[in-house]
Amino acid sequence: METETRPNLIGLSRANLRTLFAELGEKPFRAEQILKWIHQRGVLELDAMTDISKTLRERLKESTVISLPRVVQDFSSEDGSRKWIIEVASGSRVEMVFIPEAGRGTLCVSSQAGCSLDCSFCATGKQGFNSNLTSAEIIGQLWWANQELGAFSGSESDGGGARVSNVVMMGMGEPLLNFDNVMEAINLMMDDCAYGLSKRKVTISTSGVVPAIERLKDFTDASLAISLHAPNDELRSKIMPINRRYPIAQLLASVRSYMESLPDRRVPVIEYTLIKGVNDHRQHARELAELLRTFPCKINLIPFNPFPGSEFKRPKAARVRSFQEQLVAAGYSAMVRTTRGDDIDAACGQLAGQVEDRTKRNARYRKQWAARGLIAASNDAPQRQGVPSCSA
Ligand code: SAH
Ligand code: SF4
Repeated sequence: METETRPNLIGLSRANLRTLFAELGEKPFRAEQILKWIHQRGVLELDAMTDISKTLRERLKESTVISLPRVVQDFSSEDGSRKWIIEVASGSRVEMVFIPEAGRGTLCVSSQAGCSLDCSFCATGKQGFNSNLTSAEIIGQLWWANQELGAFSGSESDGGGARVSNVVMMGMGEPLLNFDNVMEAINLMMDDCAYGLSKRKVTISTSGVVPAIERLKDFTDASLAISLHAPNDELRSKIMPINRRYPIAQLLASVRSYMESLPDRRVPVIEYTLIKGVNDHRQHARELAELLRTFPCKINLIPFNPFPGSEFKRPKAARVRSFQEQLVAAGYSAMVRTTRGDDIDAACGQLAGQVEDRTKRNARYRKQWAARGLIAASNDAPQRQGVPSCSA
């Protein structure tokens, strides 16, 4: 199959579209016209873009493409959550989840097919890494969700208008290990000529890629969520291998510096997945409160979501509540994130899609699981129906 090398108009930010039009000898304002057609009106056919001359449309047809990832499966939960599986150019299938809440609708977007970081409690991590999503495949998730919700079909007054109001980069993959493509897509999310989401409504979630957090302020002012999950380096390194490279003190320093670079008073979200008997003890809550004493933040507690082959368990609801109460008593804003879309497997950390593992990690885990009798020795990767979810 011939690889497409022409630029994909869907994945280009305003700055890059302007450069493209300059190269074509066209006026830069064509960039704004294209953005509005694609991202505000949902139009993908150049011939339907009536304020663009026929000659330019013909030139664009020759030198560019407008290509979206394909939605291959669609799940609807009884609670209103939706999950879509898309196929990306590498052939992998990745997942995105839409979570409607009072007054807002959050889309949990994937940035990579699989993930190389191997956090021990995460289904995506267990499946290894396959590929980075292109900017078109990332922004394409938002386009699709809006399309499926009817956002492009008309104004709110004539029945259309349900749309994504918040985006969290909490789907499959580590967004900051696909830096350029994620920045390009986030740029589009926040561009008034495209989706026009405010900086408070677009959240990057990271496991702590410190050099990338240090670069962030030169590219965006989006909101930040940090996957901490442990109050000390010893435990964090055990469950999140990235901590051996970038320990907690370095991570918090880089986050502090990013937050201080923002002109408004925003705080990061600290994500803490509560895993039974691993990080959910009273002592862990005490340590966490102590660690974050001088670090302005909000804490989101996520009860662990199990997946096939995982060695971990979710703590009892009473344990989750008392962990939360300890943090609140210590003066923190600590929320427990409720699981949504249970019936369609749409919970945080469960996203698995279908990823051909280029790191061979999956094979290694399958051996371990088979040895422990969790799967049959000859089986493929543990089969699951669905995938992920989140809301910041
Ligand atoms: N790679 C990024 C974003 C994707 S994961 C990151 O790690 O931040 C989104 C969130 O789900 C992270 O906070 C992650 O730690 C959490 N998570 C992963 N597996 C989980 C599981 N099985 N149960 C609950 N939360 C999980
Ligand atoms: Fe990757 Fe995030 Fe999962 Fe860790 S939690 S393996 S960084 S997707």
